Amino acid sequence: MVRSYVREARRRGLGRRRERIGPIVERLAAEHADAEIALRFRSDLELLVSVMLSAQTTDVNVNKVTPALFAKYRRPEDYLGVPVEELERDIYTTGFFRQKAKAIRGTMRMLIEEYDGEVPRTLAELVRLPGVARKTANVVAAELGHAQGVVVDTHVRRLSQRLGLTRQEDPVRIERDLIRVVPREDWARFPHLLIWHGRRVCDARRPLCEQCVLEDLCPSSRLRA
Ligand code: SF4
Repeated sequence: MVRSYVREARRRGLGRRRERIGPIVERLAAEHADAEIALRFRSDLELLVSVMLSAQTTDVNVNKVTPALFAKYRRPEDYLGVPVEELERDIYTTGFFRQKAKAIRGTMRMLIEEYDGEVPRTLAELVRLPGVARKTANVVAAELGHAQGVVVDTHVRRLSQRLGLTRQEDPVRIERDLIRVVPREDWARFPHLLIWHGRRVCDARRPLCEQCVLEDLCPSSRLRA
């Protein structure tokens, strides 16, 4: 199915991926000028903690917890200055609270011991932090202005497949394809554009192809099937 979208783009004469990516980014940027990360944070540390908390839950859910959390925990030391059970209670509603509390405390310890309490910039450093996987690291690096990859979440995966930008299923392989085709200066905003387009127009079950600005560039448009 995924493989067929790449072939389908050729069959419909829509052009190669590298030719379509420019107009795709341009049109999505015009359509979703407000596309940005939905998490709310005011510092690098708050960004890192928010992204760690957002695993397996919604950004809305995280945003409900973080105002009180960030008022209480301002520095990496603060997360280590309370019993772990207290931190678990404070992040309980984001789910997987035991693993998340453990990861956050481990990360805070490493920030203090190895990075002077600052959040590092590079992907290689970020993925060393306990509980920080590649996706989390990519999101943090991009928001810090140092995008070193392309974030692949469920929307990015679905849309890049539908648009025939990848024939892969695995997020790491999808990212590899996107890195090859998306200009480096767009690595940070491209996932946001796909995420917002996925939420507003290209729904998983009911894509609104008739309202889509990418319709003439999309090999899975239902209007031309
Ligand atoms: S044309 Fe349809 S399937 Fe393609 S991106 Fe737009 S809404 Fe999604």
